[in-house]
Amino acid sequence: MISYAQAANIVSFPPPQRTLMGPGPSDIHPRVIKALGQPVIGHLDPACVAMMDELKALLRYAFQTENALTFAVSGPGSVGMETCFVNLVEPGDKVVVCRNGVFGGRMIENVQRAGGTAVVVEDAWGEPVDPQKLEEALKQHPDAKLVAFVHAETSTGVQSDAAALAALARAHGCLTIADTVTSLGGTPVLLDAWGIDASYSGSQKCLSCTPGLSPVSFSDRAVARIKARKSKVQSWFMDLNLVLEYWGGATKRTYHHTAPVNSLYALHEALVMLAEEGLENAWARHRNNHLALKAGLEAMGLKFLVREEARLPQLNAVHVPEGVADAEVRTRLLTEYNLEIGAGLGPLAGKVWRFGLMGYSSRPENVMLCLAALESVLAGSGYALTAGAAAAAARDAYAAQGTVAA
Ligand SMILES: *Cc1c(COP(=O)(O)O)cnc(C)c1O
Repeated sequence: MISYAQAANIVSFPPPQRTLMGPGPSDIHPRVIKALGQPVIGHLDPACVAMMDELKALLRYAFQTENALTFAVSGPGSVGMETCFVNLVEPGDKVVVCRNGVFGGRMIENVQRAGGTAVVVEDAWGEPVDPQKLEEALKQHPDAKLVAFVHAETSTGVQSDAAALAALARAHGCLTIADTVTSLGGTPVLLDAWGIDASYSGSQKCLSCTPGLSPVSFSDRAVARIKARKSKVQSWFMDLNLVLEYWGGATKRTYHHTAPVNSLYALHEALVMLAEEGLENAWARHRNNHLALKAGLEAMGLKFLVREEARLPQLNAVHVPEGVADAEVRTRLLTEYNLEIGAGLGPLAGKVWRFGLMGYSSRPENVMLCLAALESVLAGSGYALTAGAAAAAARDAYAAQGTVAA
């Protein structure tokens, strides 16, 4: 027996009350937290099956698609990513991957681990994917079967032109995989209008649900490709041929794995809230709060990493000013203001801060709190600024929108 003494001073865990303004997870609305705490029911209970069917309909709305195969993978966004790649890539397949940040790099890993060959279209971190470079790669590799790109690169805050990239892929006979983890619910994601064949997202970014679920959607073309595979999907858990019998059509469900029932309630509630607000209103809210935060950050003299036309409203990356200690500022925001912001990744480590305004985090009171906290911490670290200028600029931005700041 291992005695309890070793763990005896461990008690219940009360998480600190933070305001989440990093790259995800985002703040969760009380309605979603309440849904999470409802009684668990069996995952094959008819009531659960009915809820899962509603969830599929709600996800079709969020993704703007009629794809029958639209559901939530039991796993974080990374599992959704892997589900797309292990099902759509067969050993020997050539896949064009566009990389302009962290997540494109992970796509390359996924292609290689599925036995495919990745042709990489490179763009600088902070730049959108260049459609012309993709077109050149497709001309050079007429045997490519798939194009993969990240719509909203969370590592830099840049948005790529998904419609243009998907159209090029289609013109060259390729299917497309689009990462919409950070875009879904925050900026337009129009799977059918853009002709995207497979997409995965995350529950914890602009959908503001608990982490651990990955909404995915596959077109009929993608399903046909999967059904025509010569080799078995290497992953049993992610094999869509098997998952389909669980999440799939109207026929009887077969046990595949135990879905995280309570997390599904939470996602259902988050999506009901998105539908109540309306996608267009949600996109406008993300944009309006971004404009106010931008006005405030710029009034403090901070400069954005990404040029204006390609910026994501839900992920604001700014350069850490010269002479300011990156980690110290973030630590002070967390410990003194309970405010989480994101650090830079990879080549941008120590060089940028990433302010997320995702989902329920995208609210005027968060923008105003963030600007006040950052101003006070920066002033304390000797950075020259005009007290109150950031808040005034943000309030002006809200006034111009007809919104009242908190
Ligand atoms: C967060 C994120 C992921 C990974 O999602 P996890 O839920 O952390 O696994 C993938 N792609 C992008 C663009 C992301 O922002």
